[in-house]
Amino acid sequence: MSDAHGDRLVSDDRLVADDRLAASAASAGLPGAGPPILVSACLAGLATTHTGVAKPDRKVMELVRQGRAILVCPEQLGGLPTPRLAAEIVDGASGASVLDGEGRVLDTSGGDVTSNYLRGAREALKAARLAGSKVAILKARSPSCGKDRIHDGTFSGVLRDGSGVTAELLRREGLQILTEEELEGRDL
Ligand code: SF4
Repeated sequence: MSDAHGDRLVSDDRLVADDRLAASAASAGLPGAGPPILVSACLAGLATTHTGVAKPDRKVMELVRQGRAILVCPEQLGGLPTPRLAAEIVDGASGASVLDGEGRVLDTSGGDVTSNYLRGAREALKAARLAGSKVAILKARSPSCGKDRIHDGTFSGVLRDGSGVTAELLRREGLQILTEEELEGRDL
């Protein structure tokens, strides 16, 4: 016979135990107690890059295994296929200027994919808000996910300062952005 609490999916004991675990992790300064971390899907081992491969990162995959990450690929969320042509933010612009309506993202055939990049950034932000994410781990140097350094728009492998469109939008919305290259030595 079920009592007044019979319909609960998780018992009171379990909730108390979870609360204790969260409190102890929080007091130890571990982000594990917090909301899920938004991660670039390619870092989690999904074959989402423009060439159709994954860029798996051990720490990111561990977060996924622990159920502590949500995966997004902004370029796919923006409606682009996989594989797809490489694209870069051109004419000295950056994710910031694309968001401000000044910069453009072009693919190697000259096709303008700016609207796809903007849509993908907004969808990634939606996912982050839904999950309450405060931290995002995003693939370095991508025109969507790159933080602080991106390709310079000449498709020649040269880098310059600036972030990708999604990374910049998430940063503006208050998320802490890390690249996979900044995870070494960090407790996650
Ligand atoms: Fe990875 Fe981001 Fe590029 Fe998608 S848009 S393949 S998640 S770097």
